[in-house]
Amino acid sequence: MLEPMEIYYRLMEYFGPQDWWPAENDFEMMVGAILTQNVNWNNVEKALSALRDEDLLDPNMLLEVDESTLQELIKPTGFYRQKTKRLKRLCRAVVEAGSTQEFLEQKDLERKLLDIKGIGPETADSIALYAGDVPVFVVDSYTKRILKRVNRIEGSYKKVQNYLEGGTERDVVIYGEFHALLVELGKNICKKDPDCRICPLKSSCLIAQKNVSTS
Ligand code: SF4
Repeated sequence: MLEPMEIYYRLMEYFGPQDWWPAENDFEMMVGAILTQNVNWNNVEKALSALRDEDLLDPNMLLEVDESTLQELIKPTGFYRQKTKRLKRLCRAVVEAGSTQEFLEQKDLERKLLDIKGIGPETADSIALYAGDVPVFVVDSYTKRILKRVNRIEGSYKKVQNYLEGGTERDVVIYGEFHALLVELGKNICKKDPDCRICPLKSSCLIAQKNVSTS
């Protein structure tokens, strides 16, 4: 078993700071959080670049552009019809709040985000953390896989989130780095077929220990 903060320190020592989220401003961060659903980041960058070229990385502009144009621009991210509708709904909420800043400063931001159809807990928490500076732990499929393997912690989004938040200091910088570090580990080492030999968690990981004792 490894305590959450021990996991954090080991990953930080191994990978170094990740400085997430990769975005020029808060609105671009929110757009990226919706576009990255079920697709890798390279495709999101293509779509963000296309939106930037058309001066559409602005809530009012994005709300006004017609759906077929928007669909074409974000096509590389897949599920582009649903994502177009999600982006439009998010922009409407931002415009109704007055500005991106006013939207992000609302009380109970995560709840407001979850009220937008098509935005689930992971996207809502990503936006709340990286754009809204709310100290909330983002749980994604990499996080779930790693915790299940290292500590046999598994279950719902909320259960895993409560476990991590209960074992860490509630801090926006730590949570931002921790999530990014888990993504780095899950993408490159603790993959579906894990490469435990080079993993910084291997000395305390239940799966790695089991593999050693049974090999
Ligand atoms: S030791 Fe292996 S199974 Fe455990 S976290 Fe690392 S890569 Fe994943």
